[in-house]
Amino acid sequence: MRLQIVLATKNKGKIEEIKYILKETGITDAIEIHSLSDFPDITEIAEDGMTFSENARKKAETVAGYTGLTTIADDSGLEVDALNKAPGIYSARFAGEGASDADNIKKLLGLLEGVPKEKRGARFVCMIALATPDGEVKLMEGECRGIISEEARGTSGFGYDPVFIVPQYGKTFAKLGEEMKNKISHRAVALGKLTTHLKLMI
Ligand code: IMP
Repeated sequence: MRLQIVLATKNKGKIEEIKYILKETGITDAIEIHSLSDFPDITEIAEDGMTFSENARKKAETVAGYTGLTTIADDSGLEVDALNKAPGIYSARFAGEGASDADNIKKLLGLLEGVPKEKRGARFVCMIALATPDGEVKLMEGECRGIISEEARGTSGFGYDPVFIVPQYGKTFAKLGEEMKNKISHRAVALGKLTTHLKLMI
């Protein structure tokens, strides 16, 4: 029987991105992937931890406990050096509850106004938690370093992609496009580490 795995998210974009990256690894024949959409009775899990790890762990443990299945959860965000690692775990709601990507970007660029390029370093972080029904949790971190641009450039992706320049390519994630982003992103790095663990389980 194939290993049954639940992705602890309802976010379609995230589910597709994770499936895409796992497919590249060639292990998808041995696993069957479900998501929270298959378990509508599970109520919203509050992301109230103080770190990416706490949030990812809580989501993975809760869903593994409820479903009795191996569960993968992630939490991610942007840490900007000049802002003492803000917005961090508050990345999605940096400009307030319900803020749009454009609102968050506007706030970020406003706070960095006048900050020179060499001080605009940042990193995207992705923490993945893999929880098994026996209560064991493994954490895997991925990061991607970059520089915050002075203005938004590009249209692909989501979140802070239009202002996150990857120095090796001199382009923002939003200009690089999904295919290239999925090779080098914080999520891709963390998923690479996850794959190593999953291979030991199948
Ligand atoms: P979460 O992991 O869904 O909680 O994501 C938190 C927030 O971090 C998102 O809403 C985005 O604002 C930001 N973020 C995380 N990953 C990315 C990315 O790959 N590109 C752009 N923004 C991201």
